[in-house]
Amino acid sequence: MSWQSALEATGARVIPDAPLARLAYWRVGGPAQWLVDLTTVAQLSGVMRLAADGLPITVLGKGSNALVHDDGIAGAVLRLKGALAELVIDGTSATAGAGMLLTVLLRRLDEAGLAGAEPFAGVPGTVGGAVVMNAGTRLGEARDLVRSVTVVVPGGELRTLDAEALAFGYRTATLPEGAVVAFAELHLTDRDVEARQARRQELMEARKATQPLNLPSCGSTFTNPPGDYAGRLIEASGLKGLRIGGASVSTKHANFVVNHGDATAEDIRQVIVHIRETVFARHGIWMTPEVKLLGPWEPGALGRRSE
Ligand SMILES: Cc1cc2nc3c(=O)[nH]c(=O)nc-3n(C[C@H](O)[C@H](O)[C@H](O)COP(=O)(O)OP(=O)(O)OC[C@H]3O[C@@H](n4cnc5c(N)ncnc54)[C@H](O)[C@@H]3O)c2cc1C
Repeated sequence: MSWQSALEATGARVIPDAPLARLAYWRVGGPAQWLVDLTTVAQLSGVMRLAADGLPITVLGKGSNALVHDDGIAGAVLRLKGALAELVIDGTSATAGAGMLLTVLLRRLDEAGLAGAEPFAGVPGTVGGAVVMNAGTRLGEARDLVRSVTVVVPGGELRTLDAEALAFGYRTATLPEGAVVAFAELHLTDRDVEARQARRQELMEARKATQPLNLPSCGSTFTNPPGDYAGRLIEASGLKGLRIGGASVSTKHANFVVNHGDATAEDIRQVIVHIRETVFARHGIWMTPEVKLLGPWEPGALGRRSE
């Protein structure tokens, strides 16, 4: 049986040669060999059995932290929907499907009179992407509210992992090799809900004032080095406005790389490498990219440190 027939046999919706540029925030990149929309855990397990047989698997959340290669992505690119994007509330706990958008999560919690997910204010990804990235803001990060996650590993088995097992770090989490996050159990609160909502609102206003939200980007391109800010270092290196092809360092927030409409993934990669090398030459700091590379990128595609 071909990979496509095997994917279809799981019950998932399979779209061959599907453009990804419209699905990922930077609006660049080539097609997925198969874009696979999954709506049940059984379908996800079925696809992950194929992963154990050698089918390459990539998960796409909202694509708000992902640079998709211009040649696209070989194998199956999974999107989690339906039962894998739902929210079940039980008192001050909730189980969120990994495909649920964080904006939808926040709205649903507001409606239920619950708080605790403020760290996600203005973060445009999914619950799964937030777990993998330990996404956060000055109001906290995923690790503050994720109690456990259920993942599906290659072979199709479901495993529930406590938050400690994820070893959350600054914009990082550790998952079993090749695992896909299916659900996250969240620890919430019904206390100080209005005050917490107000803090979220303040943060949203500040973000609107400081971030270039009118052009495609993936938010912060680099994590902040200890004791400093990536944006400050990039600006102090004279890089604001630096442009390669259709991509540039935002003039509004130097840690954002924006697409002026006609950028390629390669343009964006080159801007990132240029920033990294220039900041290192000027300040001796080799910054860490926050964005994830999806597709056939070479190792070291975002720059190699020259000693
Ligand atoms: C305007 C803007 C502002 C932003 N502000 C913030 C911010 O304040 N704080 C912050 O932390 N981030 C911020 N980001 C970055 C981004 O929104 C977060 O990193 C977010 O968590 C990514 O989620 P996603 O669903 O879009 O993941 P994607 O970009 O789709 O994927 C990111 C990585 O996670 C993997 N992945 C996604 N879902 C799963 C899953 N279910 N199982 C296994 N792997 C998975 C992908 O394969 C990829 O490697 C911002 C981005 C933008 C565009």
